[in-house]
Amino acid sequence: MVDKELVFKALDESLVVISTEVTNTLLSYRQLSDSSQESAGVLIGERRGVHIIIKTLSEPSRWDIRSRFMVDRVSKHHQMAVDIAFKKSNGELHYLGEWHTHPEDVPSPSIIDYSSWHKNLKLSEPLILIIAGRTDFWVGKKIQDNIEMLKRI
Ligand SMILES: [Zn+2]
Repeated sequence: MVDKELVFKALDESLVVISTEVTNTLLSYRQLSDSSQESAGVLIGERRGVHIIIKTLSEPSRWDIRSRFMVDRVSKHHQMAVDIAFKKSNGELHYLGEWHTHPEDVPSPSIIDYSSWHKNLKLSEPLILIIAGRTDFWVGKKIQDNIEMLKRI
């Protein structure tokens, strides 16, 4: 458990803030044992100018096809979580990207991750990608076809 938000910075100095609540939820899905499954969901929050604040997220449901090394985001409940957050916040909270877990301490994106991000995430605005490993997070920002790894500050 953490009691502080996490802050990451891009080369252009823009910030990505991950709320305490979101951080703790991500930590709770870490694949700490060999039998734990990979989990995934979407990230939801606010854009404040060039900065991004991740305030909530969707969590895996029993309708997701889950296995240890791959997750298919087949369930519509992820899109529903985005729609509900958007309505409840009077349009302040938006879809901001995706998260998933990896069964490794310090995670890095796989070739499949990169190809699926390039293929499936088509938004002109920047999107955030988080991989929760066992001891560390990998956080990236996708702007058009470029994916930049962000630095924790
Ligand atoms: Zn992955």
